[in-house]
Amino acid sequence: MKKTENKQVEKKKRGRPRKNEKETEVAPVKEKANPPKVRYSDEDLEMFYGLILKAKNEATEEVKMLRERIDDLQNAVNSDETMVYSMHMAEQGSEAQEKEKAYAQIQRLNDFVKKLDDALKRVKDKTYGICRICECLIAKERLIAVPVTTLSASYKIRNKCPEDGIDRIEKRN
Ligand SMILES: [Zn+2]
Repeated sequence: MKKTENKQVEKKKRGRPRKNEKETEVAPVKEKANPPKVRYSDEDLEMFYGLILKAKNEATEEVKMLRERIDDLQNAVNSDETMVYSMHMAEQGSEAQEKEKAYAQIQRLNDFVKKLDDALKRVKDKTYGICRICECLIAKERLIAVPVTTLSASYKIRNKCPEDGIDRIEKRN
């Protein structure tokens, strides 16, 4: 008796779904309003990779020079022991200032190198040059000028991503 009851229930389930069951049905795939995902060609990515690497090498070289300059300043301070007291103090003051400036510059350069490394990683992932807000391709000229950017020129200039998905560098009038 019980067995037949169960069978009947199952049969009912397999039939037309009841109203409240419809919700679990897979919704028909809608046409995506967004344009298909875009990316720069391998050739372009290779060009950008070279640019980023060049910028990184330059920044790394500058850090090296600044460190050498700091060492020189340190050595100068150490060899100044025999100088007249007042002069020594003045020298030390300006040297300390220059050292401080050099350290700050090193910090800025290291931050920049980190951003360049991130950009190199994006090139390898083939996601380089894509606006992080609207996923449009960032204008090539902008990437060449600011290789670490993840925002379109449109966004930078007008605080708005390009509506047609084509980033342009427009001069402000
Ligand atoms: Zn955008």
